[in-house]
Amino acid sequence: MNYQNLRKKMVDEQIVARGIRDRRLIDVLYKIERHRFVPQESRSSSYGDFPLPIGGEQTISQPYMVALMTACLSLKGDERVLEIGTGSGYQTAILAELSKEVYSVERIESLAKRAQELLRELGYANIKIKIGDGTLGWSEEAPFERIIVTAANSDIPPPLIEQLKEEGIMVIPLGDRFSQILTVVKKTKDQIIKTEICSCVFVPLIGKYGF
Ligand code: SAH
Repeated sequence: MNYQNLRKKMVDEQIVARGIRDRRLIDVLYKIERHRFVPQESRSSSYGDFPLPIGGEQTISQPYMVALMTACLSLKGDERVLEIGTGSGYQTAILAELSKEVYSVERIESLAKRAQELLRELGYANIKIKIGDGTLGWSEEAPFERIIVTAANSDIPPPLIEQLKEEGIMVIPLGDRFSQILTVVKKTKDQIIKTEICSCVFVPLIGKYGF
């Protein structure tokens, strides 16, 4: 299987053709080997235009959704980013390439350990992974310039608003269990501004402030 060709096709046809323009992000998508983040038996379809199962009833998000969420964060390179839902670690690797430090929380131990091992093997030294309930955030490391939640919730967990720095940006799918709207949240001195991006379907965020 020529993964490099599949990857180029994925970026050109699913990402660039749909309007993602962030050059740094596009270069990172060309580079990161998405097939390494999925179970062995699904590697041949890892560059397809859909999410894939990664075990524990969880999924690696569709490539375009990963790209769109990352683009919404407008990363420049000096940010500390909190990710809720490490899953496969694919999104985590992209964030690590585009920011200063990534703090990622995953509730399923087996997924967290697998992602941690792979990301270490790939040489990322700016990622910290914690097993736990991400709806509580990561208070010891707060505040964060950016927060990304890769599981669906009915509302923004209050600790995450708290832990987002002023002028910070959060991206989170908000809605019910079966369909959501990808939402960009900006925190200013005295208000929270929400912008709706598009409809989407994510697995549920499960925890104290989740489903
Ligand atoms: N970005 C990941 C998405 C994985 S799916 C990827 O593309 O691979 C969402 C993940 O969120 C799942 O791994 C699920 O276990 C995790 N999750 C759900 N609720 C959570 C919570 N409260 N805290 C941390 N992780 C959670």
